[in-house]
Amino acid sequence: MALSPSLAVPLATYELPVVGVELDQSIVTILGAFAIAVLIALSGFFSSSEIAMFNLPKHRLEGMIEDDVSGAGLVKALKDDPHRLLVTILVGNNIVNIAMSSIATAILSLYFGGLVGVLLATFGITALVLLFGESVPKSYAVENTESWAVRISKPLKLTEYLLFPLIVLFDYLTRQINRLIGSTGAIESPYVTRDEIQEMIESGEREGVLEEEEHEMLTRIFRFNNTIVKEVMTPRLDMTAVPKDAPIDEAIETCIQSGHARIPVYEGSLDNVQGVVHIRDLVRDLNYGEAADDELELADLIQPTLHVPESKNVDELLTEMRENRMHMAIVIDEFGTTEGLVTMEDMIEEIIGEILEGGEEQPIEEIADDTVLVRGEVNIEDVNESLDIELPEGQEFETIAGFIFNRAGRLVEEGEEITYDGVRITVETVENTRILKARLTKLEQPDDDEPEPDDAAPLEADNDHE
Ligand code: ADP
Repeated sequence: MALSPSLAVPLATYELPVVGVELDQSIVTILGAFAIAVLIALSGFFSSSEIAMFNLPKHRLEGMIEDDVSGAGLVKALKDDPHRLLVTILVGNNIVNIAMSSIATAILSLYFGGLVGVLLATFGITALVLLFGESVPKSYAVENTESWAVRISKPLKLTEYLLFPLIVLFDYLTRQINRLIGSTGAIESPYVTRDEIQEMIESGEREGVLEEEEHEMLTRIFRFNNTIVKEVMTPRLDMTAVPKDAPIDEAIETCIQSGHARIPVYEGSLDNVQGVVHIRDLVRDLNYGEAADDELELADLIQPTLHVPESKNVDELLTEMRENRMHMAIVIDEFGTTEGLVTMEDMIEEIIGEILEGGEEQPIEEIADDTVLVRGEVNIEDVNESLDIELPEGQEFETIAGFIFNRAGRLVEEGEEITYDGVRITVETVENTRILKARLTKLEQPDDDEPEPDDAAPLEADNDHE
């Protein structure tokens, strides 16, 4: 616009310098007010565009494109170069805001003189821009992100053409400055991060969008890929296996006695597992096999199995076992010694929760709000969750029995007590050297004076860090 009045002198008439036309002050005022109204609308357009374009999640945009929403393609094209898009919006927004304040200053100066005109224009336009150029349009865009993004995409593209030289210039300049100050200039963060999804799951449950069960399962899925085989396996002591030279009858008997359908077959010792037999094959071949009974040997029915290190991630193992159609794997330690076995069920339980059969006991039994009875092999993570406590995880022990041994530094007896970080752990049942059950009570106040049951506890230094 060619209005450039002197700020100092209020005039009754105003001469457009180029065309030499004399304009009445009131006409200048009306034209100026009209221009300000148009510019404030444009300011609102640019501000709302910024919110609509950058708040629109990628997956929603992809959904819109799949649904053939008209205009979604153009939104995507604009968002494909977020830096160029932001420069377009910012150049447009700044031009209209600055033009608005220049015009307002010029007009107000006509009436109130230079200084007062500048002050009035500054505060007046700030208020106008804040309200109608920023706040209202941005709130609208937040609430109508998708539809608004589609609607403003064409005018935005048009702006990009209209302001092309300026946009190219500022695009270049901002990239150079970013490079100089060492910023990546990344405008949009990676599509979505793991942490964001986890936070969404948390707030999803808080807001009632997700059921508690769904929330738990989703949380477990996220924990799944940090879980290692050692945490879920059945330990060597609990393994039921048969020697390779055992008669088939004995193998069937072992299956029935133990209640397991698959049992590992070893040669010599448990450290040399040859494979696994399934009760189905044992029974089928015994009753319907073509070979004569005395010819059939256990070795003929052995199915191959996987030997995996205890540090293997369960998500990898689950995939491998599915690909190899195996239900059981043997877990070995770094010396090749058998540590235990793991089945599909052990891993799936990590996602869907404990699957208990028949007379199986709950691994964690809630006795009171602050007390639980826990089986020795239960993972510390699960115990922590059940009582909302913080026993150390991820150390050289996985289970609550492992923790107690580590604290004590020696074998423990039934009835012994340990206090750690505001939790009293009482050893309930011990069988030979093995802790079968422990009772955990969350104390009201972590008791600093509590006498320690032993002096050589390796974790003593960590105690009372609350
Ligand atoms: P099953 O129904 O035959 O017992 P699952 O695969 O359903 O087998 O496993 C149930 C639980 O029993 C798992 O914790 C698994 O580790 C354990 N398990 C399965 N087979 C044996 C076995 N031969 N010896 C010891 N534990 C086993």
